[in-house]
Amino acid sequence: MIMKHELPKLPYSYNALEPFIDAKTMEIHYTKHHQTYVDKLNAALEKYPELQKKKVEDLLKNLNSIPEDIRTLVRNHGGGHLNHSFFWKILTLKKTDPSPKLKAAIEKKFGSREKFMEEFSNKATALFGSGWCWLVLKDKKLEIITTPNQDSPISQGFISLIGLDLWEHAYYLKYQNKRPEYISAFWNILNRDEVSRIYEEAIK
Ligand code: MN
Repeated sequence: MIMKHELPKLPYSYNALEPFIDAKTMEIHYTKHHQTYVDKLNAALEKYPELQKKKVEDLLKNLNSIPEDIRTLVRNHGGGHLNHSFFWKILTLKKTDPSPKLKAAIEKKFGSREKFMEEFSNKATALFGSGWCWLVLKDKKLEIITTPNQDSPISQGFISLIGLDLWEHAYYLKYQNKRPEYISAFWNILNRDEVSRIYEEAIK
């Protein structure tokens, strides 16, 4: 059976994250940008029925096994699809807190929550061009990384806990060139319950 990749349902309305992310940005980001990654991923896989059965995670985990003629398309559009599906899930306007286990791991690795947020924000600010900043886990250890374009941490063997979209399309309508303001707004809408859930599942 041919499986078409689909845009996941957004878990909230376009205006749910106002004023930190404006409704217009959310609508365009989800219905245009994310949809395009989905469509182009499906188009790239058309010639390869055996790959159409695979989950996007499995395609990206082993990019070298993807036929060369579509490898870059899968990397970019499969990555775009997975990264955005993840991003929507870790945003909320609800007040949330990291679980005791995640809090302890953050404090152990970075010294304090504040120091972690500062390091993450600095890396996100310094990323040149389009890409993402991530808190990831490998061998149950926390790390902050950035990836260019739509490269997914999963392709490097990481489990994503936090991901921040740093493409201008994610913030330009509201923040224009002020990426640091968008990054500080992000901390108000990070769903720490969801991040904690992913963390605790990953360290089991
Ligand atoms: Mn985006």
